[in-house]
Amino acid sequence: MRVKPGSKVSLKKYDANDTGPYASQQQAEKPLLKLLDELARLQNLLYAQNKHGLLIILQGMDTSGKDGTIRHVMSSVSPLGVEVKAFKVPTEEELAHDFLWRVHKAVPRHGFIGIFNRSHYEDVLVVRVHDLAPRKVWKTRYDQINSFERILTKNGVIILKFFLHISKSEQRERLKQRLADPTRYWKFSLSDVEERQYWSIYRKAYEDALSKCSTKWAPWHIVPANQKWYRNLVVAETIVKTLQELKMEYPPPSVDLSKVVIE
Ligand code: ADP
Repeated sequence: MRVKPGSKVSLKKYDANDTGPYASQQQAEKPLLKLLDELARLQNLLYAQNKHGLLIILQGMDTSGKDGTIRHVMSSVSPLGVEVKAFKVPTEEELAHDFLWRVHKAVPRHGFIGIFNRSHYEDVLVVRVHDLAPRKVWKTRYDQINSFERILTKNGVIILKFFLHISKSEQRERLKQRLADPTRYWKFSLSDVEERQYWSIYRKAYEDALSKCSTKWAPWHIVPANQKWYRNLVVAETIVKTLQELKMEYPPPSVDLSKVVIE
């Protein structure tokens, strides 16, 4: 599911319904709980060590489950060490700066997990699909993004990027569910229905972003996301593996503990 740097992504080849080795949600329950426990342990270490920040970028079509992924995968970690940033339509002030200005400010500090719900990738997705900037402007952004992410990773930030891959028919079901449930009306927006008409243009824009910006230092992961439970498992597993590879250790005491007397 990790996109090989330099490879050309065709989303047709990825099954949004895939559930890996699991035949049912029930089978995946225990492994997911184990992963969430391990994630809590690793986050504590990350915080204690205060050496790396972990930046998790979530992108996907409307209703692909960005909010739900955050809610589930982060359910076991301490809120003290997590920062979530949702990127909306840029403000006038943001638009008066380079497109990475607002993003750089939101990068997690060392010790923290930062989650981007949407990100600088919108500047080569919605901007491209709706001609919000000329082609010659957004065309150069892929290289700029790669350089920017390289700078971050050279400065102690680990980057994981997830594309939550749902099918067009699954999106229809999810939009219908929003219409049928008063507790979800607030999530329903006519613009989601309008954006749906651009599905194949978005898909092409996503394929380009995934192909051009999956790098050794900041890889993209394509997550089958029609089944929410499998999506959560894949994201949790990728984060856990990445943090485990850091081989973090708790810092030694800052004072000679044998001399401490607590009366
Ligand atoms: P969400 O759909 O993420 O839950 P909203 O309904 O507020 O939240 O949508 C945020 C909107 O902001 C999306 O339509 C997204 O395309 C748009 N957006 C984010 N970044 C940019 C950007 N750089 N330029 C233009 N639009 C953007």
